[in-house]
Amino acid sequence: PVRTRFAPSPTGFLHIGGARTALFSWAYARRHGGQFVLRIEDTDVARSTPEAVQAILDGMKWLGLEHDEGPFYQMQRMDRYKEVIQQMLAAGTAYYCYTSAEELEQIREEQRARGEKPRYDGRWRPEAGKTLPEPPAGVTPVVRFRNPVGGSVAWEDLVKGRIEIANAELDDFIIARGDGTPTYNFCVVVDDWDMGITQVIRGDDHVNNTPRQINVLQALGAAVPQYAHLSMILGDDGTKLSKRHGAVSVMQYDEEGYLPDAVINYLARLGWSHGDDEIFSREQFVEWFDLDHITPSAAQFNTEKLKWLNAQYIKKADDGYLAAQVASRLARRGVDPEAGPALERVVALYKDRATNLNELADAAELFCVELHPAPEVLAQHLTPVAIAALKGLHDRFAAAEWEKTALNQAIKDTMAEHGLKMPQVAIPLRVAVLGVPQTPSIDAVLEVLDRERVLKRLARYLG
Ligand code: GLU
Repeated sequence: PVRTRFAPSPTGFLHIGGARTALFSWAYARRHGGQFVLRIEDTDVARSTPEAVQAILDGMKWLGLEHDEGPFYQMQRMDRYKEVIQQMLAAGTAYYCYTSAEELEQIREEQRARGEKPRYDGRWRPEAGKTLPEPPAGVTPVVRFRNPVGGSVAWEDLVKGRIEIANAELDDFIIARGDGTPTYNFCVVVDDWDMGITQVIRGDDHVNNTPRQINVLQALGAAVPQYAHLSMILGDDGTKLSKRHGAVSVMQYDEEGYLPDAVINYLARLGWSHGDDEIFSREQFVEWFDLDHITPSAAQFNTEKLKWLNAQYIKKADDGYLAAQVASRLARRGVDPEAGPALERVVALYKDRATNLNELADAAELFCVELHPAPEVLAQHLTPVAIAALKGLHDRFAAAEWEKTALNQAIKDTMAEHGLKMPQVAIPLRVAVLGVPQTPSIDAVLEVLDRERVLKRLARYLG
């Protein structure tokens, strides 16, 4: 069975690159009816924080990337890593190394002087017929992996194709430090093994770790998973995506009014494609997704494209869903979402023109709170002529049947009575009832705002 994992280090928020890796791992598991495991790689104690763990969990939840197992925390698995280290020492696939830091520096200097690449020289590596030095007193040894000599390690990367590294390039890396704590590359191997991971999908900044990890897996007699290394994401300007490019935290997109479905759809297209299809649901993505349509070249982030996609998602979103989103945004602003007409009706008026949820909330706020426009705005729009027309409207509205046709008739009758054109009535009316000169079709706005609010708001300007 397929088992994938997302293994973030909790040293910051869930960023766009991490979210894309998570999405592809999640989608691959879903596509193949497998399991998706979440693993928190928190062994870098100095840089890992509980806040970052929470931010990652929040981001995953917001995106709707549910894991089937976990979260597992590496810090809670220390005993297991130590157990495997003992097994490897016993099996001879790992060994104690007493080389001091000073000695290592000396070895490196000599190698550099000879024009060689600095690497551990294997002085504590047991070999048949080799006598090892006497362990120095008072030195706590590190544990090194006994990397195979000769030959090479190769894998068929599901994104990058075949990669082959000569073992001569890899030295006997440290798997446990002097204090007994396991090193990063080692924990990953034990985890991927214990968790039965079949496809490791991760960023290509880890390509260099893969040959070492494969060698350890083989030394353990573990099955080697398939690897898919995703290329990095570049910003609009072609440089590595970073804070300079605006929002990089997934939750920042929530704050900026993006729908998680739109962000998922956008992330799906970052380095993967299905013909020319641009807009597709999560379910459709899962059905289509496979690793052979991932582009090995870097993907470029395009904020304008994401904005456009978000607008498309808002247009076709369910009114009830949008209303709930808008309600919580209003509440966070200190606006009572119940103070206006039903939000479903308000969002229906605006969803075709909004590009994000904050814009929808801005519009809805006008329906919930009586806005007092700036004096200049009032002076410009509520001229004596306009006020006279609004008075006429107020009386007609008081008696009209409250639906669009009748409301339109009331406006037309007022125009005729005062010899005014549509904008000369409709714009002051908008300013008076919503506080802004531009709104969707005025009859629809009036209908939703409802008689009581319209009359009350108009009355404020009629002296
Ligand atoms: N913890 C690593 C990271 O956050 C990922 C390791 C992996 O996927 O193997 O970059």
